Amino acid sequence: MASKRDYYEVLGVDKGASEQEIKSAFRKKAKEFHPDLNKDNPDAAEKFKEAQEAYSVLSDESKRKMYDQYGHAGVGAGAQGGFGGAQGFDASDFDFGDIFESIFGGGFSGASGFSGFGGGSSKSRASRGSDVLMRMDVTFEEAIYGCEKKFNLDVVEECDECHGVGGFDSKKCDTCHGSGTVTTQQQTILGSFMSKTTCPDCGGRGKTFKTKCSECGGQGKVRKNKRLTINIPAGINTGDRQRISGKGNPGSNGGENGDLYIEFVVSEHKYFMRDDDDIYLEVPLTVTEAIFGCKKEIPTLYGNVKINVASGTDSGDKQRIRGKGVDNEYRRHKGDMYIVFKVYTPKKLSREQKKLIEKLNETDLGTSEINDFNKFVKNNS
Ligand SMILES: [Zn+2]
Ligand SMILES: [Zn+2]
Repeated sequence: MASKRDYYEVLGVDKGASEQEIKSAFRKKAKEFHPDLNKDNPDAAEKFKEAQEAYSVLSDESKRKMYDQYGHAGVGAGAQGGFGGAQGFDASDFDFGDIFESIFGGGFSGASGFSGFGGGSSKSRASRGSDVLMRMDVTFEEAIYGCEKKFNLDVVEECDECHGVGGFDSKKCDTCHGSGTVTTQQQTILGSFMSKTTCPDCGGRGKTFKTKCSECGGQGKVRKNKRLTINIPAGINTGDRQRISGKGNPGSNGGENGDLYIEFVVSEHKYFMRDDDDIYLEVPLTVTEAIFGCKKEIPTLYGNVKINVASGTDSGDKQRIRGKGVDNEYRRHKGDMYIVFKVYTPKKLSREQKKLIEKLNETDLGTSEINDFNKFVKNNS
């Protein structure tokens, strides 16, 4: 490899050149050697690269200092014979997107103006479609026992008519003559340039069809409203997600579809309260049921059961029934059920009830807790 030329010499400026002089010198060189304007000159691309490398160093104050002091070795440009394209180039104070687009064929999106075809000018890389998140309401029971749900969704799928190709009888693209790119005039800060962009007619493939597929308009894909079915496992809860592979947004350039994620929103039940896989049930008791205790039939997720309520039950007392919580297929875990008693004090009493309770009131109903509390109140005064 030939030894590197001096950067000042490359840009044609002297060592004391100002920032502005370096900038305008590079503009001149960039125009002079832009590969699209110099198709007949095989050295143009190399020269342009050289100018660009020189500019990247001389436009950066610290790099320029290093270069002045140590030469090429000081800016690490010696060993590999120059900067490898866009990566080594510091374009922070200069918008080079348009120029790079045409030289390096990609890496800077936006210039081509064709969404859905990736960023490159001649290469059309396949890219996977994005995932889609969809919320689905399910009832408390559907979530507990699992269910099958049907729903409609717009899905982009391969066109049946052309088998995803986009047309019939392929031929070389007339617009780009098979190259996949077209050259267009672009205005940049450096002036106007001829710039390569993805061919709008063939999307960079270099081929079109004698007959475009009318079903998909040449896209190879069609949007269909599909009826989908999912099996929701028993035990799902709000926030749980289920993935349906390949039903997300379409990919581009042959890339596969993204996935569809369904996030569940479970409605609440009037009586059963869910805490993960445990179920809480409030069981109301009358005053006498609480005092004397009783046998009581209560609902569970798996039918009614009979329980014994102990005498002297207070509001807030709990009873656990093992294994009657959520049988979670989704997490392979079985929860418990907790009964929480609540004693309801009657609000309306008949004359007879009033008499009976007045009689009761003449007796000592104090528990040790009540007596202790009363003592504390007395001493506190
Ligand atoms: Zn088609
Ligand atoms: Zn074309």
